[in-house]
Amino acid sequence: MPTLWTKILINLKNIRGYALDIFFPINCLGCGAEEGWICETCSQKIKIRDQQLCPLCEKIITPDGQVCFACKHKSPLSGLLVAASYQEPLVSKAVHLFKYRFIEELSAPLTKIILKAIRSYELPLPDLIMPIPLHTKRLHWRGFNQSSLLAKNLAENLLPNSQLEVCEDILIRSRHTLPQMSLKDHQQRNRNIQNAFTINDFSKIKDKRILLVDDITTTGSTIFECARVLKKAGAKEIYATVIARQEYKKKS
Ligand SMILES: [Zn+2]
Ligand SMILES: [Zn+2]
Repeated sequence: MPTLWTKILINLKNIRGYALDIFFPINCLGCGAEEGWICETCSQKIKIRDQQLCPLCEKIITPDGQVCFACKHKSPLSGLLVAASYQEPLVSKAVHLFKYRFIEELSAPLTKIILKAIRSYELPLPDLIMPIPLHTKRLHWRGFNQSSLLAKNLAENLLPNSQLEVCEDILIRSRHTLPQMSLKDHQQRNRNIQNAFTINDFSKIKDKRILLVDDITTTGSTIFECARVLKKAGAKEIYATVIARQEYKKKS
């Protein structure tokens, strides 16, 4: 139960939100209508990917984005569900503003895209939802972890009558790394992220099915590294979901 002070703070936040909406109405990024960042009509028009690829080789179409048979033995990750296409202008625009312009309010419409994808595929229900963590230095600089907002929203809305558990303090980003976006090469990204994560409570993840959540992925290095650490620490199965996968230049 929220305390009186929490209620007052929530109300103040809402009043501030209403006031801002009246004086500075937000226009839909898709059509310009004064109906919030992504209006209902544009939200419904966002296409969920109609097929998923093995996240490791990115060549084989697999059900629900599972890792293909040939890649299975070398993947700690069981599958990656990519909700929409980064080629869709509304998706890339919204993700960009969310990630680089720190517009927190976009977490709700962006989570909707992931929710729609999870519901249209048959991703196994997780025991725990985990956002890809940020290093504390980066978290302080950004002010919020965009993946955490998506994970919390997802946990609240995935099931109709119950809330899934979000674990934010088990998987820790213990090493500060260069932003993956600044590295263009797949191998550089793998090296950069290697051993960047640690687990601080093994009992919490033992034999659990975990769903990792991130905004976008490119090479998948960060997600695979998190999955490797979690699997090694005793998790049963690790799946991941992202809004979209950005293309990168594969080395030939
Ligand atoms: Zn619109
Ligand atoms: Zn494969």
